[in-house]
Amino acid sequence: MFILLLYNSFTHMSPKELIENLREELREHNHRYYVMDDPSISDFEFDQKLKQLQQLESAYPQFFDSSSPTLRVGGDITKNFNTVVHANRMYSLDNSYSKADLLDWEKRIYKHVDGPIDYICELKYDGASISITYENGFFSRAVTRGDGTQGDDVSANVKTIKSVPLKLKGDFPNKFEIRGEIIMPFDGFALLNKKRTKAGLPTFKNPRNTASGSLKLQDSSEVSKRPLECLLYSIHGLGTGTKTQLESLEKASSLGFKVPKSAKRVDSMEGVFEFITFWNQHRHNLPYETDGVVVKVNNLIVQEELGFTSKAPRWAIAYKFKSTQVFTFLNDISYQVGRTGAITPVAELDAVELAGTIVKRASLHNADQIARLDIRLNDQVYVEKGGEIIPKIVGVNLDKRPQDSVPVSYIDKCPECHTKLIRISGEAQHYCPNHLGCPPQIIGRIQHYISRKALDIEGLGGETVALLVREGLISNYADLYTLNVGQLLPLDRMALKSAEKLVQGVLNSTKVPFERVLFGLGIRYVGETVAKKLAQHFKSIDRLIGANFEDLISVDEIGDKIAESVIGFFEDPLHLLLINQLKVHGVKLELSESDTKGHSNILNGSSFVVSGVFEKVSRNELKRLIETNGGRLASSISSKTTYLVAGQNMGPSKKIKAEKLSIPILSEEDFLSKINI
Ligand code: AMP
Ligand code: ZN
Repeated sequence: MFILLLYNSFTHMSPKELIENLREELREHNHRYYVMDDPSISDFEFDQKLKQLQQLESAYPQFFDSSSPTLRVGGDITKNFNTVVHANRMYSLDNSYSKADLLDWEKRIYKHVDGPIDYICELKYDGASISITYENGFFSRAVTRGDGTQGDDVSANVKTIKSVPLKLKGDFPNKFEIRGEIIMPFDGFALLNKKRTKAGLPTFKNPRNTASGSLKLQDSSEVSKRPLECLLYSIHGLGTGTKTQLESLEKASSLGFKVPKSAKRVDSMEGVFEFITFWNQHRHNLPYETDGVVVKVNNLIVQEELGFTSKAPRWAIAYKFKSTQVFTFLNDISYQVGRTGAITPVAELDAVELAGTIVKRASLHNADQIARLDIRLNDQVYVEKGGEIIPKIVGVNLDKRPQDSVPVSYIDKCPECHTKLIRISGEAQHYCPNHLGCPPQIIGRIQHYISRKALDIEGLGGETVALLVREGLISNYADLYTLNVGQLLPLDRMALKSAEKLVQGVLNSTKVPFERVLFGLGIRYVGETVAKKLAQHFKSIDRLIGANFEDLISVDEIGDKIAESVIGFFEDPLHLLLINQLKVHGVKLELSESDTKGHSNILNGSSFVVSGVFEKVSRNELKRLIETNGGRLASSISSKTTYLVAGQNMGPSKKIKAEKLSIPILSEEDFLSKINI
C-alpha cells in the first residue's frame, strides 16, 4: 500500500491510469530487450517496475488485462492441451541438398508462372513451429503444428515467451495469424543445463528438442523460466497491405515481432547460392541453431499462383546444410520385409550419439547402396543425420578396415519365408514375390487396411492382426469380415467384450467412404491423396478397374508410375477376387450419394486450365468444382484445352498461348454460372 500511496500523491493519476501506464512502459521495455536487443533500463529497474505493477494489479483486480506484462511469469496449469484445427494448414517444406536441386525447383516454378522472379532467402530456424492468432491487436491463441492439419493449444505457455507480443504496436488487421519458430538460443540452453546440474536434474540434449518439449509443459510458470524465443517467418491474413514476403516481414517487425535481420531479397538463383555459401560458413556464429536456408518466391501473388502440393508449398524450398557426422562400427546387417515385399537392409551399429539422439540402426536402403559405398561387416562407418529422422551411412573409413574383410554378399532368399528374391528391372529394391505366403507381407497389408487413414477399424490393432494371421484365422483383409466372436474367444488375452468390440468394429467399417477403402487396398503409389483423386474421378471401383492407361493419366496429378501400378494391381485375379469378397460383405466400393452431393456431369468432356487468383472461391475450391462437375484439369495449355479459367494476375504467357490457340477464356463469374452457382 505504501507504494500506491506514494504513486498517487506524486502523480495524481487514478489507479487505473497508473496500471495502464506501467503496463505500456513495461511492454516497451520488453520489446527493446527481447525483440530489439537494445535495452534502455537495467534489469533491476525493470524488476522493480514489474513488482509495482504486480502489487497494483492484485490491489485492483477489476482492471485485469490478459495482455499484462505480469502474466509473462505464467502460472496457468494445462492438464490436457485442446486440439485445434488450423484455419490454414501448416505445411512442411520440400528439401534440397545441392545447387542442382535448387535449379530443378526453379525450372518447376517457371513451368507454372512467368518470370522474372525474385526470391527471398531466410535462415531455417531449428525449433518448433507455432501458429499464433491475434484479434483486435491482442494475442488470442497459439497452436503447435501438430500433424499440420491440427495442433495443440499451447497459449498459456507461449504467452510467457517475452519476444511474443501480447499487444501489438502500429497498424494491424482485425484478425490474422503469424507463423514462427520457437527456439532456444545456445547461451540460454547452456545456462539452463548448468542450473539443472546444480539442482541435480538431468541435463537436456539439444536446444531444439528442449524448445519443443518446453511448449508441452503443463506448468506455464516453468515455461516462463525457459529461455525461449519466437522468430517470426510469415504473416497470414488479408488486410496487411503487403505485396511481397519481404514487405510482410517488415510489417511483422513493425507490429512488434522478432524478425531475424538475416532475411535477404535476391533477384536470381546466383544470389540464392551466394546467400547459402555465406551462411554455410557463418552459421556457426549465430546465437541459435539453423539447419539450412529457406528460399521463397518473394511476390505473394506469384506464391498464390503456384499454390501447394499435398505436402508443401511450391513457392518455397528448404536447402539443408551438410549435417554433422559421427563414426561408429557396423556390427551386422539385418533385413526387413515390408508389406509390399520390398526388402530393406538395416545396419546394426555400435550405439553412438548423433545430434542429440542415440543411434543404433541406420537404413542401408538397398543392395546398390551397399555396393556403392562398399560397406563391409566390422567397418568403421560415418553416420549422418540430414533433415530426415532416420540416420544414414554415408561412407567408410578404409584405414580402419580389417585385413580379412570381404564384401557383403546380399541375401538372395527372403529372411522370413525363404522364397528366392526377385529384382524388378529399373528398381533398386529386392522383393520377396511370395505375396500370399510371406507373413510380414500378409500382416503388413492387413495392418495397412485397418489403419487410421484407411478403414480405421475400432477394437483391432496391429498386434492383434499379427496374432490372427499366425493363428490362421485370417490371411487377407476380406477375411476380417468373416470373423465371429466364437473364433476369437480362445485367443490369448481376448475377453468377450474385446471380441465383440472387434467384430462390431469390422462391421462398422462398411460405412467408411470409398476413397479410404481404395487407399486401404494397398495399391503401390496410391497414397491418401491419390486415392481421393481416383475415387472422385472414377466414382466406383468397377469404373476404375475398367480404366486404361490413357484414362488414368488424364486425371490431374496421376502420372505414368501410378497408372501402371493401378493397372498391374487389377490385372491380378486374386485382387479381383478380394474386391468381390469386400463387395459381398458390403464394403463401400463406390461413392455414395452424400459423397457426390453437388456433383454433376455438366463439364464432362471438357479440359480446363486454371490461372490467377480468384475472389469468390479459392483456387483449390475452383479446381475441386471442375472435377466434381465432370471436368478435367490440366496444368498447361495445349490444343486439347477446352477452357482457360482466368483470375486476377494471370500469367501473361498463358493468356497469349490461349489466344493463339483460340481457346475461350472464362472469368470466375463465367465459370460459376456454367455450373449454375
Ligand atoms: P520441415 O519440418 O523440415 O518440413 O520444414 C518446415 C518447417 O521449417 C516449418 O514448419 C517451420 O517450422 C520451419 N522453418 C524454420 N525457419 C523457417 C523459415 N524461415 N521459413 C519457413 N519455415 C521455417
Ligand atoms: Zn518372404
